[in-house]
Amino acid sequence: MTTIKRNPTRKVSIGSIAIGAGNPIAVQSMTATKTPNVDATVEQIQQLSKAGADIIRIAVDSKKDAAALKEIAAQVDANLSVDLQENYRLASVVAPHVQKLRYNPGHLYHHERDKPWQEKVEFLVQTAREHDCAIRIGVNCGSVDPEKVNKYDPKDSISPMLESALEHCRYLESLDFERFCVSLKDSDPRKVIEVNQRFAEQRPDIPLHLGVTEAGMPPEGVIKTRMAFEQIIGHGIGDTIRVSLTVPNNRKHEEIEAGRSILNDIAAGRVRSVVDFNTNELNIISCPSCSRVENEAFVDLAAQVKEMSAYAKPYALTIAVMGCRVNGPGETDDADLGLWCAPNFVNLKKGTESLGAYPYDEILPRLKQELDALIATKQS
Ligand code: SF4
Repeated sequence: MTTIKRNPTRKVSIGSIAIGAGNPIAVQSMTATKTPNVDATVEQIQQLSKAGADIIRIAVDSKKDAAALKEIAAQVDANLSVDLQENYRLASVVAPHVQKLRYNPGHLYHHERDKPWQEKVEFLVQTAREHDCAIRIGVNCGSVDPEKVNKYDPKDSISPMLESALEHCRYLESLDFERFCVSLKDSDPRKVIEVNQRFAEQRPDIPLHLGVTEAGMPPEGVIKTRMAFEQIIGHGIGDTIRVSLTVPNNRKHEEIEAGRSILNDIAAGRVRSVVDFNTNELNIISCPSCSRVENEAFVDLAAQVKEMSAYAKPYALTIAVMGCRVNGPGETDDADLGLWCAPNFVNLKKGTESLGAYPYDEILPRLKQELDALIATKQS
């Protein structure tokens, strides 16, 4: 076994467990069922709990979702975290039923645009305090606070994420609230490594939730995540993890199994000494799907994209496949070709440029056409 000296993070209690302060690294996942489908969501939570999930996150975007969450929480024993998006006010409705609130600083701008973000965060902190909840400040590469993004060179996606996270940490602390952790997620494992290492250098006391977002399908999704986690956890950073995989609902437990296996391997010293991210090869990123997926055909589409594009393996290109409009438009910006799924059609993008929307049964040949054109430019 290797001995890893872990960062001296403070303890954050989340229901029946605690992260930080030397506690075992908690493994978590997120439901991908529609939240208002109470039976399916309860069943998925049970599947994840059986696999050993320490915390399970559920997305809540509407009053309907919030009402369902109350029913769901009454039927399960798991430690639940709620994922709030734009509608941060729903926190007060769901907080009595969960143990943790996750908010994304970049999403606090969408509702009540005239209200300063500080007031919104104050509301979240007060709600967390009243209902004995922890908080996660969840910064995501696809939706960073626009004010921070505009301050930096467009090529530097890490500094805005870092600055946003640090600013929110200071603000929560100024409200005398320390029961929080932070996540800094990107789909590129190298950026996940850098941003987490830089954060931990500045704030070694704050527990970190680690994850590579949109890692894709197994086995590649697990490999990408493993590479990032080895470099981060191997340096003593990280208190809870999520492995985000694009898998059908009945295989969601694989996220927990993959997380445990990565942690066991790191603890046993079974790590790759050289991290090679294969940047000279085709890279397919796809979101793990969650309750926001707009068409269940998304998981099959991700698999079909992988199969169709296999011939492009020798080319250093990135194709991103995303399940919804919440993170899809932003997170496809950095890909050479991106697909984000709407209920009845799929949006095709080339970098930040939109190439139109296509029915699900027409998107693959259209994507192939663009892929061929990109390969031709590389060959010329
Ligand atoms: S892109 Fe949308 S569907 Fe996919 S995980 Fe993110 S929020 Fe969920």
